[in-house]
Amino acid sequence: MDHYDVIIIGGSYAGLSAAMALGRSRRNTLIIDAGDPCNSSTPRSHNFLTQDGVAPGEIATIAKAQVINYPTIDWHSGHALELTGEKGLFRMTTDQGRALTSRRVILATGLRDLLPEIPGFAECWGKTVIHCPYCHGYEFSDQATGILAPADQALEMVKLISNWTSDLRLFLMGDKVLDHQERDSIIEKGVRIISQPIVEVGHAKGALKHLVLADNSQEPMKALYARLPTEQKADFISPMGLAIQPSGHLEVDLFGNTSVEGIYAVGDCAHLMRSVATAVYTGNIAGAMINKELAEEDF
Ligand SMILES: Cc1cc2nc3c(=O)[nH]c(=O)nc-3n(C[C@H](O)[C@H](O)[C@H](O)COP(=O)(O)OP(=O)(O)OC[C@H]3O[C@@H](n4cnc5c(N)ncnc54)[C@H](O)[C@@H]3O)c2cc1C
Repeated sequence: MDHYDVIIIGGSYAGLSAAMALGRSRRNTLIIDAGDPCNSSTPRSHNFLTQDGVAPGEIATIAKAQVINYPTIDWHSGHALELTGEKGLFRMTTDQGRALTSRRVILATGLRDLLPEIPGFAECWGKTVIHCPYCHGYEFSDQATGILAPADQALEMVKLISNWTSDLRLFLMGDKVLDHQERDSIIEKGVRIISQPIVEVGHAKGALKHLVLADNSQEPMKALYARLPTEQKADFISPMGLAIQPSGHLEVDLFGNTSVEGIYAVGDCAHLMRSVATAVYTGNIAGAMINKELAEEDF
């Protein structure tokens, strides 16, 4: 049985950032990572200082090289399957049959985007079908753009995206309907509301050309913002009884403490503001806080 001060599950930006703080604090730390970050389909990551426009894998590769250079950091490629125990002694197993224990656990396991089964959608995801204007909006400034959103988020999205382009049309998804006042204010701004469902995303190697609608008509456009549902990637979250926010994110305090003592959560799995910067920031805080806790415990 391998024993660590801290085991971090998820070795992308959030997990690596926590590991950097822990490695520099000389804490024996293991990172377990399945190697499947949510942004792998996007060719360029934006809005993170010093790395604007860099491929997401390149940012993670540099970060990993710097983190595992600290002698107290171990790396395990694989899936963490089970998590049990309590503060001071957590137990976990991996898909390769490793049994591990640790005093603290950090979840940096991220989210899974639930893509609709529309032909062409997955091929464009992260390239021209995008989730966030701060990450990719600038590249589509003043271009013909669609918004695919549930009715209760539609007006908020239209207001936000109007800052990048006024050439907008709105596609509603789900069962909810637009409130009359909201509908009127969207139309007043010159945004067309299209009720026909999207049946295909026409593209060339991920570059969006047009959307094909149920009546077989086509809407030419360069980008589509999609507010997709997400789910937690890690399966052991509900068996551990961790409290979840209404949005589906793990409940955490400012330092990353979850509702279960000794378990921290950082990055996408716990934060609505989804970005590399948030992942790095929240990981960094949790790493430092755990070190402080252990230092006080051991003094
Ligand atoms: C398509 C797309 C494009 C994006 N573009 C940008 C951008 O341009 N700029 C920006 O700032 N942000 C961007 N984001 C957001 C950004 O990618 C995320 O906020 C960031 O990746 C979150 O980091 P994370 O470490 O929390 O999670 P992730 O990066 O998703 O990593 C989670 C890691 O945990 C691992 N994992 C999960 N479960 C287990 C388990 N049981 N055992 C072991 N490992 C596990 C996964 O394999 C993965 O490696 C984008 C997101 C998407 C979806």
